[in-house]
Amino acid sequence: MPHAAYCSECGTNVYVRADGRCPMGHGPESLSNYYEVDVWPGHMGATGPSSMFTPQTLAMARWARVTLVIIVAGLLLMCCFACAISPFFFTTY
Ligand SMILES: [Zn+2]
Repeated sequence: MPHAAYCSECGTNVYVRADGRCPMGHGPESLSNYYEVDVWPGHMGATGPSSMFTPQTLAMARWARVTLVIIVAGLLLMCCFACAISPFFFTTY
């Protein structure tokens, strides 16, 4: 479970990095009001490898894969259609 806290240097709530500092590098002495968050808050400038695996990112990756399958299927259908009508073009010329 990721943690967030209020950073007195940034003047806003920030995501607490694994090393216990704010994303801007401010130390624990600047952080207070720690709390747990369900998802990585994007507006807090969360960075690092862990933020690559948010539920939103996984959902987007799933949709990207579905979209890719649809595009490939569409291209195959277009290819078959082109093959089916190509004899007519060849006989025309
Ligand atoms: Zn800060």
